[in-house]
Amino acid sequence: MTAVSAPFRIVHTVCSHDCPDSCAVLVTVDSKGHAVKVAGDLTQPVTQGFLCGKVAKYLDRVYAPQRLLYPLRRKAGIAKGPLERGREHEAFERISWDEALDDLAARLKATADRYGPESILPYSYAGTIGVLGYGSMDRRFFHRLGASQLDRTICSEAGGEAWKLVYGKKLGTPTEDFRLAKLILAWGANIHGNNIHLWPMIEQARRNGARLIVIDPYRTRTAALADWHIAIRPGTDGALALGLMHVILNEGLEDRVYIEEMTHGFAQLAERARAYTPERVAAWTGLTAAEIEQLAREYATTIPTAIRMNYGVQRSENGGAASRAIAMLPVLTGAWKYPGGGAQLSTSGAFPWNEQAVERPDLALASPLKRLARMVNMSALGQALMEQRSEIRGQGSESREQGSAARPGDGPDVHALFVYNSNPAAVAPNQNAVLRGLLRPDLFTVVHEQFFTDTTDYADLVLPATTFLEHTDIQGAYGHYFVQLSEQAIEPLGEARSNVWMFGQLAQRMGFTEDCFRDTTEQIIGQALGIGPDGHSTNPGMEHITLEELKEKGHIPVAFHRDGLRPFVSGPVPTPSGKIEFYSEALAAQGLDPLPGFVPPVESRWGESAKRYPLEFLGRKADNYMNSTFANLDGHRKMEARTSQRLEMHPVDAEARGIADGDPVRIWNDRGSLTLTAMVNGSVPPGVVAARMDWAKLHPDGSNVNALTSERLTDLGAGATFYSVVVEVTKK
Ligand code: SF4
Repeated sequence: MTAVSAPFRIVHTVCSHDCPDSCAVLVTVDSKGHAVKVAGDLTQPVTQGFLCGKVAKYLDRVYAPQRLLYPLRRKAGIAKGPLERGREHEAFERISWDEALDDLAARLKATADRYGPESILPYSYAGTIGVLGYGSMDRRFFHRLGASQLDRTICSEAGGEAWKLVYGKKLGTPTEDFRLAKLILAWGANIHGNNIHLWPMIEQARRNGARLIVIDPYRTRTAALADWHIAIRPGTDGALALGLMHVILNEGLEDRVYIEEMTHGFAQLAERARAYTPERVAAWTGLTAAEIEQLAREYATTIPTAIRMNYGVQRSENGGAASRAIAMLPVLTGAWKYPGGGAQLSTSGAFPWNEQAVERPDLALASPLKRLARMVNMSALGQALMEQRSEIRGQGSESREQGSAARPGDGPDVHALFVYNSNPAAVAPNQNAVLRGLLRPDLFTVVHEQFFTDTTDYADLVLPATTFLEHTDIQGAYGHYFVQLSEQAIEPLGEARSNVWMFGQLAQRMGFTEDCFRDTTEQIIGQALGIGPDGHSTNPGMEHITLEELKEKGHIPVAFHRDGLRPFVSGPVPTPSGKIEFYSEALAAQGLDPLPGFVPPVESRWGESAKRYPLEFLGRKADNYMNSTFANLDGHRKMEARTSQRLEMHPVDAEARGIADGDPVRIWNDRGSLTLTAMVNGSVPPGVVAARMDWAKLHPDGSNVNALTSERLTDLGAGATFYSVVVEVTKK
């Protein structure tokens, strides 16, 4: 914390929303303890003194009159289900934290006694990405209880697994280095919408002559600003990457010296790529062979080139293979050798927090199970809540056949759901299955939240949560290389409480006597950093970091970034072979394809279901929301008004169905339907339609785009396949 002249003080915080930028945020607090200003920290090299449009007016959110400020219990006789926006409180009665925690502990104990502890399911994701808020005391609590473990796959698992298979670790081109690139490929990455601190680097690169190429089926803000927008068909990115390899290798544009020194399995990859001729790839992707050749040549002959992948690509059934193939491109061309070259999917591998100490999985041995509990895949929540109760227990299911480690059919039915850091009624796939589950009268649901959401409408108990201004945390990033301390700037609003406080209190009410349940926030931060006797971190690459220096500066780069080193310039690489792996022996040992290949998604224009549902559907994320966060705020909704409840269609598809711009349309598949208004434009290629995610309760149908998405899982990582969806559309 930095003192300035009274009556104000400035506090170092970190934006903990699910965004790669993890901005350093300076909060000005007045003498009454009221935050009066938030600003980006000028001294943080990626934040560069500015915040995005979502967070620039963050105090409107922190002090919003709609904030949840007290524990609430559903009134007797009030059924679960959608509540009118602004009148949700009428369904609940205010109770004290003591009463709430006592009730909750009694309920969890009774559930565990009757059905076994695995009948309790935590459900959380990245509502906050601070280390403590994301997963610390909660993990300890659920391990000690013996509750089901949640396989947190909903966002990034397929891409993350892909990257680790190729490189061993999620590291990438430093964000600051993109300014040195001469060609930038934004592949499934809407940088202008949700990675805005990379944008000034790209602008600087372009001022120095760089070109920006965007590969995305949707004409995002970033695509509209690009030198070349390649509107690829959804789910065909892997084919394009292999087609680029084909051209690069066919024309001898690869970097043989780098390949020889750094890689494993080049001969096998070269053989695989031979089949992906530009003509064949053109037929899948909707591009022309000439475009594929042009892109390959431009990519392979420009120095340096940087690829910014984001997580759009990997949310397809074949997203793991596609991400692997894209990740290999800068290896083939040797782009990693040059400052400003390489690729970035995530930088999160640079932050080796001491997870054993923070999450204490060993506590599972003290649970009634005396072992780690079963895993339930969060991307199949509908199945976990519903289907396992009857027909699919002990049987296979379509999505399980995709190779998920999660088998919701193993073990007891879910009887209690503990939601925090997430809004599954809005964000989980196959929404109607999820909502049917949440409607079960025998399911006890508790939600820890900052606002009423789609999910709180189904809660028995609603508990008020803090924002990042109201608690202390430590944070890495997945879009830069700085460890940052986020200090509490203001007292919690009302009776809002942090995750750490809530689970610590609950543990004590459950009778868990382990000391770790009384750890303070500062102690857990010390454990995350692995602070040794000399006050320094013992985590690899963080040994220069002390808590005192973090408090003083707010942000400290990890060692290799401080030293100006770049990943994958030289070996060894943390893969089994010690090399960058084109060919994965680990996948081969599992009977999986050891090389990247292209298999069209089952749910796509090439699948059987396309006979009934010929259009591919993209349920897009909003530029001005963070998934469903911010969607309840009027200011943010205004910024998203243009595409609110609209279905964007290509003129060819609209005309074929007699649909004109502004017509009401129905979009549906076997899982659900939505009524929207047609917006006939060129934002999507032929055969593709798109609509933006919003809160379900704000839509007249009580659904959002996830009414159409499926619980089928990705080829790697058992992730969600939000972008492998087929639908039909008619005029209403
Ligand atoms: S949402 Fe992202 S860009 Fe916006 S302030 Fe937070 S970290 Fe920065």
